[in-house]
Amino acid sequence: MSGVMTSAAEAAGGPTPVRPRMRAGTAYAWHRVLARGAVTRWLARAIERSPAATRGFTSAERVSKEHLFGCRMCGQCALPATGYACPMTCPKELRNGPCGGVGGDGRCEVHPEMRCVWVEAHERAEQAGRADDLARLQRPVDQRCRGESSWLNHWQGRDECMWTEPVRPDREGVQPRSLLGRELGLTPVGPR
Ligand code: SF4
Repeated sequence: MSGVMTSAAEAAGGPTPVRPRMRAGTAYAWHRVLARGAVTRWLARAIERSPAATRGFTSAERVSKEHLFGCRMCGQCALPATGYACPMTCPKELRNGPCGGVGGDGRCEVHPEMRCVWVEAHERAEQAGRADDLARLQRPVDQRCRGESSWLNHWQGRDECMWTEPVRPDREGVQPRSLLGRELGLTPVGPR
């Protein structure tokens, strides 16, 4: 009998939790460098004028983010709001987690040998002083964007409605659109 146990979800090819390879602080710093602005918007437009350039840029994003974060190319990147732990590596693909099945010691319900992505997200965001980001309620993934470059979508402003206002706006010290919103210039309220 093999010593490796395979869960039903794993056997079915579903997502498995991934521990990010990049420190949260480093990732936030990179995001500031690559934040949406006139230059990145111009760059995105220039890339998207060429299907070949778009494919190349998207492939580069896929390879690098898959290695660093286990990215599954949802096309609407939530990493800046989740301590750079990818919510799409949650076996349930929860965009607002954790679920009720997470173990008291932070174990994933589906893959008990691994840590819950959302526990990871909360810890990383907290360590980076970004815990308030987790108060934002994320809207469901637009499945039509699967496989697209989330950077191009972000630079072009196509992901502006990913988040609602913080779910605890009355909590002392929490400002609507604090931290992440100010940095990214989000104006996210309202249906897509
Ligand atoms: S683009 Fe989507 S799947 Fe990829 S890292 Fe960001 S949230 Fe995860």
